[in-house]
Amino acid sequence: MTPFDLQNRVALVTGGNGGIGLGMAKGLAAAGAAVVIAGRNKAKGETALIELRAGGAAAAFMELDVAQEASCRQAIERTVEQFSRLDILVNNAGTTVRKQPQDLTLDDWNAVMDTNLTGAFLCAKLAHAPMVRGGGGKIINIGSMMSIFGAAYAAPYSASKGGIVQMTRAMATAWAKDNIQVNAILPGWIDTELTQSAREQVPGLNDRVLTRTPAQRWGSPDDFAGIAVFLAAPASNFVTGTAIPVDGGYSVMA
Ligand code: NDP
Repeated sequence: MTPFDLQNRVALVTGGNGGIGLGMAKGLAAAGAAVVIAGRNKAKGETALIELRAGGAAAAFMELDVAQEASCRQAIERTVEQFSRLDILVNNAGTTVRKQPQDLTLDDWNAVMDTNLTGAFLCAKLAHAPMVRGGGGKIINIGSMMSIFGAAYAAPYSASKGGIVQMTRAMATAWAKDNIQVNAILPGWIDTELTQSAREQVPGLNDRVLTRTPAQRWGSPDDFAGIAVFLAAPASNFVTGTAIPVDGGYSVMA
């Protein structure tokens, strides 16, 4: 097997029906993996599936709400039933509620934490057994610049994404002996549905991103194909517990 070959590997990408998740799913499929994309919106899933299959990939869509444990269990069991194994889990599903901390309700807080952090925990926990059965695995958790920085409108989002980095380190430590590598990706500002709404809700955001990002552009979902393949492939077999920014230099500019 060459360092970036994913032939005979099976990947599950939560929220793979759009945005960054679909960008990573396309990268994994192009490297030879069978890819299951999972999310709540079936119509978006079917459209994404056409795109994945057009490239010749074995692919499927599964309905999944990561905030529900039973739904996570079902998606993982169905992936293993349909494709016989699970080698790669990408915990990408994410959401936010943009309010000042004093205006947040407990429901707002729980909705973000349940999706971004608890959902990633549940999927990883449930993926552990099939990965061990298969001889090892790769878990890729999606953090954010809010894993490092804060923003006035992002208390639960920042808490969840900071938690992703620490959970990644803990799981990497626990599962290294099982040949499971666990890493996080920290995206900068990427042009997706999530940030299209941010541009409407946060005044001046577009200009600030362009000025503050050394690459002087928004990222695109396709910018995540390569890093997903690296972290899913034998190339990263001695890389675990890291949090890698994919941000056009955002996090290193003073
Ligand atoms: P999108 O809104 O385009 O994609 C989010 C995906 O998550 C959707 O496909 C959505 O599918 C899925 N999703 C949301 N809630 C759930 C749920 N409860 N169960 C299952 N799937 C769910 O956003 P992005 O592509 O931008 O975001 C992807 C990840 O990247 C997120 O974790 C986000 O926090 C992170 N990120 C994004 C940045 C950006 O600038 N865009 C920056 C930093 C991090 P569906 O609605 O069908 O369920």
